[in-house]
Amino acid sequence: MSDDAATAIENLSQETRTFSPSSEFVQNAVARPSLYQEAERDRLAFWRSAASLLSWKTPFTETLDWTDAPFARWFADGTLNVAYNCVDRHVESGHGDQAAILAEYEDGTDATYTYAQVKDEISRMANVLTDLGVKTGDRVAIYLPMIPEAAFAMLACARIGAPHSVVFGGFSADALRSRIEDAEARVVITADGQNRRGKQLPLKPAVDEALATGGDSVEKVLVVRRTGGDVEWNEGRDVWWHEAREDASAEHEPVWVEAEHPLFILYTSGTTGNPKGIIHTTGGYLTQAAYTHRNVFDIKPSTDVYWCTADVGWVTGHTYVVYGPMANRTTQVIYEGTPDSPHQGRWWEIVEKHKVSKFYSSPTAIRTAMKWGEDIPAKYDLSSLKLLGSVGEAINPEAWMWYRRVIGGDRCPIVDTWWQTETGAIMISPLPGITATKPGSAQVPLPGIGADVVDESGKPVENGEGGYLVLDKPWPAMLRGIWGDPERFKETYWSRFEGLYFAGDGAKRDEDGDIWLLGRVDDVMNISGHRLSTMEIESALVSHEWVAESAVVGAADETTGQAVVAYCVLNNSNADSPTDNDELVQELRAWVGKEIGPIAKPKRLFIVNELPKTRSGKIMRRLLKDTAEGRQVGDTSTLADASVMQAIADEVKND
Ligand code: ATP
Ligand code: MG
Repeated sequence: MSDDAATAIENLSQETRTFSPSSEFVQNAVARPSLYQEAERDRLAFWRSAASLLSWKTPFTETLDWTDAPFARWFADGTLNVAYNCVDRHVESGHGDQAAILAEYEDGTDATYTYAQVKDEISRMANVLTDLGVKTGDRVAIYLPMIPEAAFAMLACARIGAPHSVVFGGFSADALRSRIEDAEARVVITADGQNRRGKQLPLKPAVDEALATGGDSVEKVLVVRRTGGDVEWNEGRDVWWHEAREDASAEHEPVWVEAEHPLFILYTSGTTGNPKGIIHTTGGYLTQAAYTHRNVFDIKPSTDVYWCTADVGWVTGHTYVVYGPMANRTTQVIYEGTPDSPHQGRWWEIVEKHKVSKFYSSPTAIRTAMKWGEDIPAKYDLSSLKLLGSVGEAINPEAWMWYRRVIGGDRCPIVDTWWQTETGAIMISPLPGITATKPGSAQVPLPGIGADVVDESGKPVENGEGGYLVLDKPWPAMLRGIWGDPERFKETYWSRFEGLYFAGDGAKRDEDGDIWLLGRVDDVMNISGHRLSTMEIESALVSHEWVAESAVVGAADETTGQAVVAYCVLNNSNADSPTDNDELVQELRAWVGKEIGPIAKPKRLFIVNELPKTRSGKIMRRLLKDTAEGRQVGDTSTLADASVMQAIADEVKND
């Protein structure tokens, strides 16, 4: 390895700043340092005891059955109900008056639902679904905006043991149809429309369109009235929720299901390849959801106000909006709108209003807030915050530091949580009150989780080296397969390394043994035979004061194999950056050379207005790579805004 490449690989792990929690935080922390030893001593006993966070109708006797690996069975002879665990038992224990959901609507109105009210709502909806013909085991598609009814719909399905398939409300009719058809859903739950940036966008027409040309399994469509106004109505098929609700009883006996009964199917966002229907089941999933939520977010049920900004259309909205928080009897904010409507301080206004104490969001949201400028959050009282979380992508050290200082007042621990739709719950993360945190690193596997970084041959790497992230022990919330395609499950995750789950992400261990995520394996570049991570170069660019966001790709190059191509979005708030494009580009290229090493210097660098992102906010490097290599841009159907990619393609062509 040349010196240059060695420098590059070393760069991120040279982060030496660490932040220890305050002694006050340590004293009151939920997570105990002994968790690591307990899990180390007897992993299955550890998970057995975590399962006691739940109420079981029939206790299980066996913890894990791994004889048919990679198909796991956890707590398989126990029975329980997820909705009972998330709602009823809190009412039974005398907490029915505690707020479960603080709903903030896009138009500035709000509503509170107590646990007792949630119990009534989901019981009514469970009765309505049963009347519409849904039986235990039938699939229900949910296509709703981010309103309390989305959580009610999921819990109502769980109550009758009907696996749900939530489809993000921003997806098109085509995307909805293919997901309905793959899961053969019997009922779709939707709304007439949704509020977005002061406008009312129709939602039900997409369901009508999807069902006009397919989706034959669907018999009924249950429609929540959100925006009002006229909607096309299909008599005999469509049912208004508010009308059915009137006649529905608020009494409903939950259906007790086996621990391995499927709870939901969720299609991955499609940053890579075709969407896959990831299957999660009941007992193991809820155990790890509750356990990780409680320990990673330091949850104190009676005092915390928690807010996870994810949409229920993504796995984060399943595990850390609905199931984990509600299993732990948390009071939480659910917000319908966008961060910039009606103004760019909207999120911080909500934090102030509800005195949010635990806040969980994504690097893309944090970088966007950085771009808007720190004087915006400075207008609000954020002193209620006690802990901040991040998920979805690796967080650049620069963004981490900003998050800590500007939002967290230099006082809140940050938990950078690595996990996937497939893992069901958090796998790698600091534990607040225990781990001294490090900007940009997810650091350590949680107690009870086996994660490692291995080389091409599957051998664990030494500290200071990079490789592939793998999971080497089964975990309770692990996916149980891909809906309808067990072979694809084995092939995608279990064939790369014998006996190891291949996560598809590149990673590195630093000198302390901490884990750094380097992005997807496809995003690791090969420049003159040296492996460089797109993530490292992006982090270097973002650490320059002019740059708000950046995306780096490796483009085919005749001489070096691949060449570094960078796209940068500039900060809004920088008056002193040059206006001359060439000057900007030269300075930023030189900066990367200085920060990482000459080999990492982008061969081409473009200043752009926006980066192409999926609807969950992840950068689609695949498309940027198409452009950098002079190809027609590939499938843009999962992009939030397809015009962004066109603008970039035009710019690159004119270069
Ligand atoms: P698809 O699998 O369809 O391409 P996706 O992988 O984006 O979509 P998710 O399951 O939501 O869908 O995302 C999981 C991925 O997100 C991880 O594999 C990893 O690449 C990235 N990720 C999530 N959290 C972190 C984190 N804290 N640090 C680094 N990367 C993260
Ligand atoms: Mg993935």
